[in-house]
Amino acid sequence: MKDANCIFCKIANGEIPSATLYEDDVFRVFMDLGPATKGHALIVPKDHYNDLFELPEETAASAIKLAKKLGAQIRDALHADGMNIVQNNGAAAGQTVAHFHLHMIPRYADDGQKIGWQPREITPEKAVEIAAEIKG
Ligand code: 5GP
Ligand code: ZN
Repeated sequence: MKDANCIFCKIANGEIPSATLYEDDVFRVFMDLGPATKGHALIVPKDHYNDLFELPEETAASAIKLAKKLGAQIRDALHADGMNIVQNNGAAAGQTVAHFHLHMIPRYADDGQKIGWQPREITPEKAVEIAAEIKG
């Protein structure tokens, strides 16, 4: 299942060349061309799914397994001090390419990048109320 207009379908399936770290029948893992830090790579399925919620469970599990294995390889090879595994769903969450991908972003002490949010305050009672709203 590919989308003819999708850049990641083309990269993952080899129609557009990429700096590939790893490839199997299901995934291609390649270097991000707008890297947050040295070694920023993307785990991308060869089939088109817009986001995590469309991804088959088995593929989602395999993506995390790959992040564990290749993330450690990147960390060790580049002597990173830490690693963010990041995954955005929807434009409001910062997704710019509508084909599921998992970011592996090695972090270095004082690399100057910020991946995070501003914590807000909530009472324990309000947290319980929101949990109940979600559970329905
Ligand atoms: P998102 O914002 O959707 O979570 O992440 C999209 C990522 O894809 C960005 O980090 C961006 O730099 C990367 N990207 C966008 N277009 C290309 C491309 O053509 N090739 C590669 N290798 N990375 C891309
Ligand atoms: Zn696609």
